[in-house]
Amino acid sequence: GSVMEKVLQRRSLRMRNMQRGWQESPDGNKVLEFRKSLPAFKEKERLLQAIARNQVVVISGETGCGKTTQLPQYILESEIESGRGAFCSIICTQPRRISALAVAERVATERGEPLGDSVGYKVRLEGVKGKNTHLLFCTSGILLRRLLSDRNLDGITHVFVDEIHERGMNEDFLLIVLKDLLPRRPDLRLILMSATLNAELFSSYFGGAPMIHIPGFTYPVRENFLEDVLEITGYKLTSFNQIDDYGQEKMWKTQKQLAPRKKKNQITALVEDAVEKSNFENYSPRARDSLACWAPDCIGFNLIEAVLCHICRKERPGAVLVFMTGWEDISCLRDKLKAHPLLGDPNRVLVLTCHGSMATSEQKLIFEKPPQNVRKIVLATNMAEASITINDVVFVVDCGKAKETTYDALNNTPCLLPSWISQASARQRRGRAGRVQPGECYHLYPRCVYEAFAEYQLPELLRTPLNSLCLQIKSLQVGSIAEFLSSALQPPESLAVQNAIQFLKMIGALDENENLTHLGKFLAILPVDPKLGKMLIMGTIFRCFDPVLTIVAGLSVRDPFLLPQDKKDLAGTAKSRFSAKDYSDHMALVRAYEGWKDAEREGSAYEYCWRNFLSAQTLQAIHSLRKQFIFILKDAGLLDADTAINNKLSYNQSLVRAVICSGLYPGISSVVNRETSMSFKTMDDGQVFLYANSVNARYQTIPYPWLVFGEKVKVNTVFIRDSTGVSDSIVILFGSALDCGDMAGHLKMLGGYIEFFMDPTLADCYIKLKEELDILLQK
Ligand code: ADP
Ligand code: MG
Repeated sequence: GSVMEKVLQRRSLRMRNMQRGWQESPDGNKVLEFRKSLPAFKEKERLLQAIARNQVVVISGETGCGKTTQLPQYILESEIESGRGAFCSIICTQPRRISALAVAERVATERGEPLGDSVGYKVRLEGVKGKNTHLLFCTSGILLRRLLSDRNLDGITHVFVDEIHERGMNEDFLLIVLKDLLPRRPDLRLILMSATLNAELFSSYFGGAPMIHIPGFTYPVRENFLEDVLEITGYKLTSFNQIDDYGQEKMWKTQKQLAPRKKKNQITALVEDAVEKSNFENYSPRARDSLACWAPDCIGFNLIEAVLCHICRKERPGAVLVFMTGWEDISCLRDKLKAHPLLGDPNRVLVLTCHGSMATSEQKLIFEKPPQNVRKIVLATNMAEASITINDVVFVVDCGKAKETTYDALNNTPCLLPSWISQASARQRRGRAGRVQPGECYHLYPRCVYEAFAEYQLPELLRTPLNSLCLQIKSLQVGSIAEFLSSALQPPESLAVQNAIQFLKMIGALDENENLTHLGKFLAILPVDPKLGKMLIMGTIFRCFDPVLTIVAGLSVRDPFLLPQDKKDLAGTAKSRFSAKDYSDHMALVRAYEGWKDAEREGSAYEYCWRNFLSAQTLQAIHSLRKQFIFILKDAGLLDADTAINNKLSYNQSLVRAVICSGLYPGISSVVNRETSMSFKTMDDGQVFLYANSVNARYQTIPYPWLVFGEKVKVNTVFIRDSTGVSDSIVILFGSALDCGDMAGHLKMLGGYIEFFMDPTLADCYIKLKEELDILLQK
């Protein structure tokens, strides 16, 4: 007690001396001057008072006004100033890992300290934090995980939940948990921060918590819609053919024929209708062109290139921020720009990328000043919309779309599709151009399309499958899932909740009474989708852990096989070299990863990746994730020190297939081999197609009756991405279904196996079982 108290008091004094020392130094003074110029500074006293007097405060203010970097820092500074620095512990959550790192670094710099001193950060796989860290920036996922083991957040004094306007699933989830926690922790302070004005919603959720708005200042940004962009750049469109930069014209036509009008979203219908009726004749050239350009699910790389060229040739200095839908687009465009005489010239243009899964070292580059007379162009996902601030942006190019998961509860299918952003997002994107001087925004869609955008985006909780979330709720021990979720800001449909519960029961994570099973407890600890978690655990049980580890890491990062737009065939051939008659994308992944490890040892990793169309960065991410899984599984007692790793793919292929099936079931389709073609049908009788880059798409016939797959993606028809051929016996033994009597037994068996595995005295039994299974599987 009091000894500790004394230590902390002494540390607090030291912190105060250091803080004063820095603020009085010339460098510190300069930073202080800058900080005082931010809009948040004028509200500092009001904010500190409100936070001191109220348990919950909701703060809104334009992006860049100083919410994230300043407010938590104000608290820290004032605690330090009052000699209580070592007693406070502030957490500030961010929706994305990149912003957690970026703001932590920024705040540390502003305090004249290295990262990991009083300011730290923590995200999945990475973090810097020391014993003197009193302000921690982390992802909302990290705080949720912490709540699993530390339900009262003991020792934490302030929690900031940032970017709540985005309505991410983790943030919405956090708010439910924190709301429940507040009465138990009356001294805990909760501060919600939002970039838009809709603070009332959050305030009333917390019983009328006070709201403070920070009036901001941004320079005006001129707004150009597609009509204007075409005029400014002189880019000519004459027909649909010309806008087919994405190679999607054909898809668009198919979609037009197949999809019934009523299913389409409002905007698609709107424009299509206009185009169809008019056959282009009744429109002015300008409107006609803009409508034509809008057509497919694409933004037109040529058009983006034309806009970038225009900026580089004609416009004043300033960085360009291009909003695109996802990593595939970004890397395609980057490759395209490399070949351009102006945009590909490194002495004049610096092209950088910014997306959620890039390495942190790359993330830092985007904040740096480019060399003189070099124009910085950042290709970004909607991540750059609000949570990170690139200071020198003067031009914004907005494709109008973002990749968004949507979830159809009725058909229980998730889809990941680029969809139109909301008006709020479009405004937000535009605003990024006006931070340091008047800016310019190029929206690559007509004004009429903008006007048809939804005002705000649907909260993520209402458009994603809830499997992982429900599992986490269960492990928080907060009672019934449905009841818990009904207290959300905007509760999800009960059908979606039922689907998730049913799914968790089916994979054996919950029992009939909705209680967590033995397996469920493990799945909740693993930071992956429950079905992938199950695959991992099955891999340990069946001793084919190493390949399964690679597969799970790969499926939870992203595909390391690149698919450059103009070299699809070559890339496909390169990938199929890893297939060796396995009829499995998952095993191709394992072979590619193992080849990369070998190449690395020989010092030829770069060449290996280049030759095989592999992303070194993704392979690296897979590698780190593998390490993290091993750590967690060892920690949970599921993996002993030497189970290991010595069981490469050659060990027992059918076992690996079985384990893949156990994880991905009911993601399974039957293979119908006809003389001329194959077709595929899922369990619910839906027709699916193989993704063009799948190794299985290159065969004439597949000698397996089934393909298991991880993901169905709805583009215009439904595609399955990665698939693996499996036999009947595997499906019977390892695919589990509720309505199948044997399978209920199988689930119990699975629980039993875990116990066998954990208890060394039962090892003999386990080995016998495994042998039996091996025999069965070799039939
Ligand atoms: P908000 O959270 O309100 O959007 P921030 O606190 O992130 O605002 O940023 C406030 C200001 O701090 C920005 O306007 C910018 O000028 C500056 N800033 C933030 N991050 C950095 C950085 N990494 N490098 C330089 N300046 C930064
Ligand atoms: Mg912020």
